[in-house]
Amino acid sequence: MAILVVDDFYDARILLERILKNGGFSDIVMAASAKEAFTLLGLGTTTKPRENFDLILMDLVMPEIDGIAALTHIKENDALRDIPIIMVTAQDEVESLKTALDSGALDYIAKPVNRIELLARVRSGLKLKQEIDRRKDNEKKLLAMNETLQRLSFVDGLTGIPNRRYFDQLLDQEFRRASRDKRWLSMIMIDIDYFKNYNDTYGHQQGDTCLKRLAQIFRNALMRPADFVARYGGEEFAAVLPDTDIQGAIILAENIQTKLTEARISHGSSKVSDMVTVSLGVGSWVPDKSAKPSNLILDVDKALYRAKWDGRNRMRRTDETQ
Ligand SMILES: [Mg+2]
Repeated sequence: MAILVVDDFYDARILLERILKNGGFSDIVMAASAKEAFTLLGLGTTTKPRENFDLILMDLVMPEIDGIAALTHIKENDALRDIPIIMVTAQDEVESLKTALDSGALDYIAKPVNRIELLARVRSGLKLKQEIDRRKDNEKKLLAMNETLQRLSFVDGLTGIPNRRYFDQLLDQEFRRASRDKRWLSMIMIDIDYFKNYNDTYGHQQGDTCLKRLAQIFRNALMRPADFVARYGGEEFAAVLPDTDIQGAIILAENIQTKLTEARISHGSSKVSDMVTVSLGVGSWVPDKSAKPSNLILDVDKALYRAKWDGRNRMRRTDETQ
């Protein structure tokens, strides 16, 4: 572990170094002033710090910048705040010592330095630093784990595309944005035709594989980065298309159908084709203040229902529901 010794007095630095080295500490760096220490710590410079220090022994009385000012400056820095600082001070500096401890110094040691006392303080300071590092490391791991959990909670376990929860949240967000900015917002609901028959014919495992393939096809059919398709329910998918009017939405819906046709996924028990097909409902709005996302879903769901009613394997717009 690395120790930084800051003292303006050459003999004092040498003495501290010798005691520490004899005590088994080998990584010791010397600074003759607070400024020099700042440079070594990477403070106020663009150059990278020499290394990560685990402990600082700081002389209290120094010309220009004294120990307390140096301590305060170091403690103001987020990356350096946790390095324990032990003040090295003469006996008659009690008042300044109190200020130093109030400003975040961990401990102090009186000059002339007693070897055993110094080593004991340094060891406990380093132990504290290890403890802090371990705790920070754990916090980082926990944070990473939370992020993963957060991400997983928005992903559909089977298909790997966004799930219903993500859909609800993002639709809400895009809806508010479209309403505020008076912009188009489109939605496509997609339902696989005769999927129950597919499962009955090929089994649920094959059914899952089919859902996965379709999810990828739908995802690849989208065009803009803000567009997304989510698994809405069992065999139902929903795409949200911000800043897209009805012409744009129809092109995307047709693109989904084309891509699916090209994939040629056999469906022996469909009543509309020998391949897997979908029915789609499409709608576009510039939402007004009184509308709710659930109104959009209801509208486009009606269009989807119309597509099925009219014979499946087709698309219907929200203005074609009569
Ligand atoms: Mg001094």
